[in-house]
Amino acid sequence: MGFITKDLLINFLFVLLPLFLVQMFYLLKYTQETDKLKNWMLIFFPVMSIILCMAFPANIAEGLIVDFRRIPFVLGVLYGGWPAALLLLSTILGIRFMIGGSGFFIALVMYPLLTVILLLIANKYKELSIFQRIGINVLLLPLSESLLLYIADLYFSLAIPLNVQLTFFVLNVTGMLIVIILWETVSKNFELLERVAKTKKLEVVSHLAASMSHEVRNPLTVTKGFMQLLHAQDLTHDTRKKYLDLGLQELDRAVDIINDYLMFAKPAAEKKDHVNVYEELEQSIKVLEPYCKPLNVHLKLKGEEEPSLTVLGEHSKLEQCFINLIKNGAEAMSDGGIVLVTISYSKDAVLVTIEDNGEGMTTEQISKLGEPYYTTKNKGTGLGMMVSYSIIQNMQGKIKVRSKKGSGTCFIIKLPLSSANI
Ligand code: ADP
Ligand code: MG
Repeated sequence: MGFITKDLLINFLFVLLPLFLVQMFYLLKYTQETDKLKNWMLIFFPVMSIILCMAFPANIAEGLIVDFRRIPFVLGVLYGGWPAALLLLSTILGIRFMIGGSGFFIALVMYPLLTVILLLIANKYKELSIFQRIGINVLLLPLSESLLLYIADLYFSLAIPLNVQLTFFVLNVTGMLIVIILWETVSKNFELLERVAKTKKLEVVSHLAASMSHEVRNPLTVTKGFMQLLHAQDLTHDTRKKYLDLGLQELDRAVDIINDYLMFAKPAAEKKDHVNVYEELEQSIKVLEPYCKPLNVHLKLKGEEEPSLTVLGEHSKLEQCFINLIKNGAEAMSDGGIVLVTISYSKDAVLVTIEDNGEGMTTEQISKLGEPYYTTKNKGTGLGMMVSYSIIQNMQGKIKVRSKKGSGTCFIIKLPLSSANI
């Protein structure tokens, strides 16, 4: 191991250092999502490597100076194509000229030749597998080395001893192997990272679309119900008007929901009102009655209205929550029945219960409530409970479930009264 000197290790460090900087570059690009960092800037890293390597070469034997400049050169040209080739070639030749000596002329013949070979390979290089890439890079080194020795011998009668040739060769191949594996890992990692970011964005979009269509479907179904009721012959003018008004109201709600989701992208401060819970329950029941009639389900509201006792929140959201819960209760009773809604007040809260005597749930099913897309229905979306939970949570309220398989379910909602009432 005598040929591995400190100088040599430091020289190799100059090849590795820009590679780590490349990682930083990618990381910055990824975390800041900035367009300012263009890919062509990657060219500067091999240039930096070459300058450092040549500025601090290693003395491996008396009077024999070597460096690892060919590693960044080969990689730079292969990955960067001809613009990189021009820049790297002029860097190497420029510095070699400044160093002086007959070595410059060897470089002047060898590097342009090597560049031509590399550019011929570069076109196909990107389509090769990683093993083929490693193979090519490792093969290129002895090739360029033989070229160098041949030129040195032929034109300049410089005979380099065999043991030095071998040392030089082993060092370059090992160095190249390490660097190319590192480089491939770095670029693969970031390729993956970019792909993950893209799929995440897609996922958000599809979730949003699914939940939006779910929430819009409620008011549309209800409107459809009223429209169907309008078909009946024996309706009085007043009832007809009532159905039309309710239908229109629900269409407005659908528009509101769509607007809400559009606002989702720009989170504006939520407008919080004093909401009368009893009114919202009444409204939800009115809205759901046409939907429940064909299911043979009756909706009943028990409790007193206390106009002075309100909660803080958005009334369309609270209504959405009640609709989701009552609808679930109605859907749980395949043979029909009653969904009983009660409201009561304590010192600082409103208590709402929504109870059905439908199919009920097992403990395992209860634990899954509120998970997005959890549904046991053919046409279910599994979003209703999730939305309801988040609405209650946003209002600083609590929601509890009591359910028994086969005998029914009861949702208990506790909402804090707005401070003006306490
Ligand atoms: P969806 O109604 O579209 O299925 P939800 O989020 O509203 O989605 O409900 C999720 C699941 O929770 C339902 O599929 C059902 O299995 C269960 N569930 C919710 N409420 C009740 C209830 N009152 N009785 C029985 N099961 C219920
Ligand atoms: Mg539901």
